[in-house]
Amino acid sequence: SHFLGQPLSLNQIVITRIDLTENNQMSSVSEKSVKIDFRQRRGKSRGRKVDPQALQEVKELLGDSPRSRDLLIESLHLIQDRYHYLAAKHVVALAHEFKLAPTEVFEVATFYHHFDVIRENETPPPSLTVRVCDSMSCRMAGAENLIEELDKKFDESIRVQRVPCVGRCQHAPVAVVGQNPVDLANPAKVKQKTELNDTIPSLPEYVDYNAYLTAGGYQVFQSCVRGEKKAEEVIEVLKNSNLRGLGGAGFPAGMKWDIVRKFEGPRLLAVNIDEGEPGTFKDRYFMESDPHRFLEGCLIACWAVGIDEIYLYLRDEYAACMTLLLKELEALKNDPPEKLPKIHLRRGAGAYVCGEESAMIESIEGKRGMPRLRPPYVAEVGLFGRPTLEHNLETLHWVRDILENGADWFTSQGRHGRKGLRSFSVSGRVKKPGVHLAPAGITVKELIEEYCGGMLEGHEFYGYFPGGASGGILPASLGDVPLDFDTLQEHGCFIGSAAVIIFSDQDSAKDLAINAMRFFEHESCGQCTPCRVGTGKAAILMEQPKWDKDLLEELSKAMEDASICGLGQAAPNPIRSVVNYFPQELD
Ligand code: SF4
Repeated sequence: SHFLGQPLSLNQIVITRIDLTENNQMSSVSEKSVKIDFRQRRGKSRGRKVDPQALQEVKELLGDSPRSRDLLIESLHLIQDRYHYLAAKHVVALAHEFKLAPTEVFEVATFYHHFDVIRENETPPPSLTVRVCDSMSCRMAGAENLIEELDKKFDESIRVQRVPCVGRCQHAPVAVVGQNPVDLANPAKVKQKTELNDTIPSLPEYVDYNAYLTAGGYQVFQSCVRGEKKAEEVIEVLKNSNLRGLGGAGFPAGMKWDIVRKFEGPRLLAVNIDEGEPGTFKDRYFMESDPHRFLEGCLIACWAVGIDEIYLYLRDEYAACMTLLLKELEALKNDPPEKLPKIHLRRGAGAYVCGEESAMIESIEGKRGMPRLRPPYVAEVGLFGRPTLEHNLETLHWVRDILENGADWFTSQGRHGRKGLRSFSVSGRVKKPGVHLAPAGITVKELIEEYCGGMLEGHEFYGYFPGGASGGILPASLGDVPLDFDTLQEHGCFIGSAAVIIFSDQDSAKDLAINAMRFFEHESCGQCTPCRVGTGKAAILMEQPKWDKDLLEELSKAMEDASICGLGQAAPNPIRSVVNYFPQELD
């Protein structure tokens, strides 16, 4: 989007040239910008014509919903759901309806992995797609064989696609048929699912609105609104509880509420339910079991901070959660415990980077999910330019319990000098993978033994990812380090969203690190050259039989120092972890 500090115009591109030595060493990188002349010769019409039939089809799909830019991605979903792909004629018609340039709509549609944009000369994809996760946990559980088998099993009427983590790592390997997940997938189960032709995933058992109310739900919110609590007191309790942002960044929640309420309103709440870090599935777990607990947290936050609108941004892979949330929001709105703020539900479209708060905000605004340069921070200039409280779902999930039970209840939990509770998403070579609620500061060895039933038969603990793909990799010899925010930095790692992936002597840290780097390459938004070019280049270098450690470190430094967001900054972690802790695999 920028070149030499200047924003690029729509007809400007940047060409990057990388020179390599004979030994595949990077000798120089240069960039230049080029303007392309799109002007038409006199007498020729400009741009694509709107196809009247496509326009009619788009109008019918949109109905009387507002043609406002922030609903652009929702509208693209409507078309994709109806036709299974986005034909160029529909994209142009949509641009016409929204009074946008077709290029703007094309650039948004092509940014997100879940939209299939098909131009006139291209063949549309089959109506059914089977997505198979090939991220770390699924790979360990045999995803590669599964993909190979499925490729052989299906003819061209079904498309088999390898995709990154779909947020069901405890059931690895996982395939998704249309929108329906197949856990512990094998070719026969997947084939059976394709024959059932289900369109909507079945809902899990969960605490619905009535059950939540019966068990005392929304009483804390009511006591706030009825003046039995003061906003300052509630914020103080949150601060004393040491509740931190559980999406990965770990910013203290109470302090965030305090900061946002000091900026002049109107203010907004944006809830990030787009967990995409490979190995993470705790938000889905909370949503599929007890959705009103986080909704009550949202309402209390709105009351305390002075917020009048909520935007929920839900991961597209979580189709069951979408159905569940629509149903429960309806129930809440039909019988509200108190006056509610306006609640909007938005659907992501398959972009890991939208887990970054400013990228999520761009996406809610109907744009490409590209992280913003900061300052200004989203607390001051966030969604639609307004002060925005941005939270991960799990952070809000704990608000009611902390206010009911007191800050001491939360801080009295913890181990090895740490305070609080953490929801670990554990996957990999353990007997009982899943979401395990455990004391902050527990070590991975304790987690495996006390919560996960030990290692799988025949597997010896060899290493672990303490915080998903981006949190680095540690060896079994560092299995006694407390797992929490701020405890892993000295080992070059971080806990992030507490996605712990356990691997064994039958796995290779190097292979898993390459898998993580390929994931970063796939998910880089492309805005920063070191991240866009560096992740791909690093993956190629890591796939060589012998690692060029100096060159990889040079590349790592460039990515770490010159990337805008956490994706590029954390991308070197798997490289450095293998070099530091698994050197035996590089000899
Ligand atoms: Fe995009 Fe990567 Fe830059 Fe983040 S670091 S803004 S993902 S290019």
